[in-house]
Amino acid sequence: MATKRKNKQTKPEGIGPRYFIDIKALEENGRSFSSLLSDCACEEHAKSLKQEAVPARKGQAKQSPMAIIESCCSTKHGYLSSTTPTLEAIFKVLVAHQDVPMTADDISGELITYGVGSSGQRDISPRVLTRLMDNDDSYGFVLKLPEEKSTSKK
Ligand SMILES: [Zn+2]
Repeated sequence: MATKRKNKQTKPEGIGPRYFIDIKALEENGRSFSSLLSDCACEEHAKSLKQEAVPARKGQAKQSPMAIIESCCSTKHGYLSSTTPTLEAIFKVLVAHQDVPMTADDISGELITYGVGSSGQRDISPRVLTRLMDNDDSYGFVLKLPEEKSTSKK
């Protein structure tokens, strides 16, 4: 018997409410998502991410700015550091995951991986992150409500 197996599961594994960047909400707050994105770019991409209409080379699929950041800029040294402000760091973690909704747990784990808060001078526990995101209205962090699937109880 052949069993089909999805082996490309890249979904974050944490449980609990997930957060993502609501780009519309962010722009309604008077911020420009594309300029925030260009702050995430490495030197090489800083220019190209600003000009949104970069013509794709022939035979090359155009990558979205977030895809570029995920595959390149977020992997470069200095994307996040121990001095990056926490909210900005959360934003960058979400961008590095192409804004796939993540739990506070996942985000906290990523921040630790990046060395944010490694000096031990601030609390980046999931609880603190949750509070920050709930109270923030400059980055457009919103809670993704669980989709109600037809798993009705009897
Ligand atoms: Zn880059």
